[in-house]
Amino acid sequence: MKFVGYHHHGRRQVGVLVGDGSHLVSLTDALPAGALPDGAGLTELIERWDILGGKLDLDSASPIAVATVTLTAPIPTPRRNIFCVGRNYREHAEEFGRSGYDATGGANNQPDAPVVFTKPPSAVIGPGAAIDPHPGVTGEVDYEAELGVIIGRGGRGITAESALDHVWGYTIINDVTARDLQKSHKQWFLGKALDTFCPMGPYAATADEVGAGPLDVRCTVNGEVRQEASTRDLIFDIPTIIATLSAGITLQPGDVIATGTPAGVGIGFTPPRFLTSGDRVQITITGLGTLTNHVS
Ligand code: MG
Repeated sequence: MKFVGYHHHGRRQVGVLVGDGSHLVSLTDALPAGALPDGAGLTELIERWDILGGKLDLDSASPIAVATVTLTAPIPTPRRNIFCVGRNYREHAEEFGRSGYDATGGANNQPDAPVVFTKPPSAVIGPGAAIDPHPGVTGEVDYEAELGVIIGRGGRGITAESALDHVWGYTIINDVTARDLQKSHKQWFLGKALDTFCPMGPYAATADEVGAGPLDVRCTVNGEVRQEASTRDLIFDIPTIIATLSAGITLQPGDVIATGTPAGVGIGFTPPRFLTSGDRVQITITGLGTLTNHVS
């Protein structure tokens, strides 16, 4: 199933896409009355997924055209920071090392262990929303197309072998980055955390919908292909990332993990090709649709 967040009649809601994806059924209509508290989001559904997942009835509710609502991110306000993995595709780790923007150093440009940072919930925006270029704060805004993993069953000490049992589903993340801030402040948080720097969507798909195989990740800027890779090329795969994070941090239902970006980001070019006002970034991942955002 594919879940969207949306505004309708002034309220934040969750919907399930039906048919060809042009219509949605609201969660409120698809579940028995009182199954979820008023105002519940996708995280609350994921928490109760074992009980409620099988109770979703998409046939008896009346569908709404997606075109008549304003979509938000599927999880518009995550309960805590989004976990992110940096330098997790071999070619990107190399281009990042070559670019001179990597203040973390490293002899061979390849990480020995997953490089982890976070983005705050306040950075999240939905499909179609504008990325703020923050003039005066940064002059080097870059895109990063990434597969986002959504945790279902939480836990600590999750083994790589059982990690996929803890995945509820997937979405697309654009790990927008202010390269000058990332470089000058050494620690990556500031450059990754600016308002609007975490586009997410257009929907969240359950794991069974997406399947277990490698996924193709593709990013275009104004229609020109910049990034094209397969998640097969991840240095640290999803089970390894989950095992690493959960070793000492209890993962919670609804946690989002951005798994890293392939080669082809703006700093990979000579000279670098940063985003400017009016640019349109589109990220497509197998089974997860296309996330489109423009720079305001
Ligand atoms: Mg990234």
